[in-house]
Amino acid sequence: MSTSCREKVILFPFMAQGHLIPYLALALKIQSKFGYSVTILSTPLNIQKLQRSLPPSTSNINLVSLPYSSSDHNLPPNSENTDVLPYPLVINLLDSLHSLRPHLHKFISDLVTQNTPPLCIISDVFLGWTVEIAKEFEIFHSVFVTGGAYGTGIYYSIWLNQPQLQNESEEEFILPDFPQDLRIHRSQLANNVLQATGTDSWSMFYKRELSQTLTSDGFLFNTVEAFDQVGLTYFRSKLGHDSVWAVGPVSDYSLSLKSRASSGTSSDLCTQWLDNQQEKSVLYISFGSMNTISSTQMMELAIGLEKSGRNFIWVVRPPLGYEMNEEVRSEWLPDGFEERMKAKNRGLLVRKWATQLEILSHKATSVFLSHCGWNSILESLSFGVPIIGWPISADQYNNSKLLEEEIGVCVELARGNRNEIRREDVVRVIDLVMSNESKKGDEMRNKACEVKEMIENAIREEQGCKGSSVNGLEEFFAMALARKKRKMDH
Ligand code: UDP
Repeated sequence: MSTSCREKVILFPFMAQGHLIPYLALALKIQSKFGYSVTILSTPLNIQKLQRSLPPSTSNINLVSLPYSSSDHNLPPNSENTDVLPYPLVINLLDSLHSLRPHLHKFISDLVTQNTPPLCIISDVFLGWTVEIAKEFEIFHSVFVTGGAYGTGIYYSIWLNQPQLQNESEEEFILPDFPQDLRIHRSQLANNVLQATGTDSWSMFYKRELSQTLTSDGFLFNTVEAFDQVGLTYFRSKLGHDSVWAVGPVSDYSLSLKSRASSGTSSDLCTQWLDNQQEKSVLYISFGSMNTISSTQMMELAIGLEKSGRNFIWVVRPPLGYEMNEEVRSEWLPDGFEERMKAKNRGLLVRKWATQLEILSHKATSVFLSHCGWNSILESLSFGVPIIGWPISADQYNNSKLLEEEIGVCVELARGNRNEIRREDVVRVIDLVMSNESKKGDEMRNKACEVKEMIENAIREEQGCKGSSVNGLEEFFAMALARKKRKMDH
């Protein structure tokens, strides 16, 4: 394909790691599969971040900085990503996104003037205003949701309808616009939902941006048709049946593992430790890249873990109220816990960050105790690992609900990082999921293997046999091309 006839696709992610990474994976997929030239737009520091993550041999992915200065928006200097912001300031970052509007407008306007309009603009859920710019220039627009359809659907329904504000004495309520009745318990609401009044900054932001995204030409989801039907049906009821595509997982986990292995990266401590464990015997514990639990929860979890007698790898981050760079303190864990676990070869405590893909793909790993961030879920299920849920914020509560109630690969142990948890519950749930005598554990492990196959089938691409996610992306671009052709024919 010559460069001149190569279609251009514009991607515009929100500035959080959990969004930038899947957007980059989507860009690589579009570029390698369709040969289109992809431009990712972001703020200067995020573009630098993306530059460092771009595989060295990549061509045809352009990274373009839009002018932005965080200090103009009640944010500390050089704070352009949620990973450097304390939670209360995230709303300022979200509110500041509108300042990018004139820059996107100019960028698209220049392309149109040069007679090289993009085939489509694909942007994040928090950038609803990009739909208006696409419409102005008659360019096909889609939202790419980095989360699952079920969790995002509940999120939309709650923010757009705020059912939690009615009948505040009721512990549970039903979402008003789901095709089937979905019951939400108040303990499944994130703090900003619990504190919402309807006119607070979060409510105002979400009501405006989310309703604008629903005027987009379509939604792409980083999910799999076979296990996310309820959520996909919700969005199809809003946007039309042919305007919602499940195209995930967009990241190629096996390829990432292979390229790490072939780059000569020596196997790390976790892999070496797992190599000496029995097959399917280890519980992996992590609360993702941003969340943490409280120090009392940490203590109960440690005592429960020790009592359970199971082997584990635990990514330990300083608890609530402590700086992230703090060393592990004795008062967070039982006396001599780490030394005892080490001496008995029972458990490994990893500081702050572990090589998650390597751990989940290892044959010794049995179960993942997770905060239910969507990337962690896709990774776990891609390797057939069932989940013990401990959601802490945002859509994690909905993801945990999806895994437990709709798919059957999860048992929830706790919710949030401010409640008490009990060591007895830790032991009970670990036993329920890990014991060979447990019927429930058996069912979850079997179901997790089925879901692993669903994922493999969705991304399969062989002659005459294409999975639902492969077809989804092809159908999406066929629709964008048809739209462009119709416009040119006029
Ligand atoms: N991750 C990792 N090691 C860690 C913690 C997280 O590799 O110790 C990776 C994990 O594999 C996933 C991402 O960070 O790809 C976390 O994304 P997720 O959506 O699960 O949660 P978030 O961190 O956004 O809350």
